Order: sequence, then structure tokens, then C-alpha cells
Amino acid sequence: MAHACPNCGMAEQVVKLDHYYLALPDGNGLKSSFAPPATRAASYGAPLAVAAVGAFFVIDGSAVLGLLLLLVAGVLGMVVSRGVDEARRARAYWERQMFCRHCAIRFVPEDGAS
Ligand SMILES: [Zn+2]
Repeated sequence: MAHACPNCGMAEQVVKLDHYYLALPDGNGLKSSFAPPATRAASYGAPLAVAAVGAFFVIDGSAVLGLLLLLVAGVLGMVVSRGVDEARRARAYWERQMFCRHCAIRFVPEDGAS
């Protein structure tokens, strides 16, 4: 189903932004401005490393320091997973956007149908 542009009301010039973006040749000036939000290469490496060090301290007898590090690892893990969520939401929003080639504007269709 086609979406009418909210600006000019034409539907025939409206394309999905991601399709339009992918069809642009590399090096086109527009390409970078329509680029999708960076999908953060979220890494659980840091919290895992902190957790490993914490576990080492627990085994080694420094339980308080070790548990503290495990706590820090838990908090870091939560921060990382929140960042992953946000990146996913931003990406989903980008994928819903439409582009009017007549007006050169981006918009999100109201009805959500595609
Ligand atoms: Zn338009």
C-alpha cells in the first residue's frame, strides 16, 4: 500500500527510506545524510571481563572486593543492554520512515500499515 506524502499529497513519489538509501550510489552526498542510525556494536566484553576479575578475587579470598566487582559487572551489563535496546529502537524507527522524492522529506506514516 502506498503512502501519500504529508507535504505534497502524492503517493507515487514516496518510497521506503531504507530502499531509497540502499539504491543510492556510494559517494552520493545524500547517502550519508540518510544513513541508518549506527547499530552500536554493543559489547558485553567489558562487563564479562570485570565479572571474571571479580570471580577471581572471590576465589582468591578477597570476597568483598570480588563481590564489589561482580556488582560493577552487573551494572555495566545493564548499561550495555539498555544501549542495545535504544540502538534497536532507533533502527526500527529508521526502517519505518518513508521518503518523498518530490519534496525530499522524510516522514513516518501515521497509520503504521505497510
Ligand atoms: Zn512530497
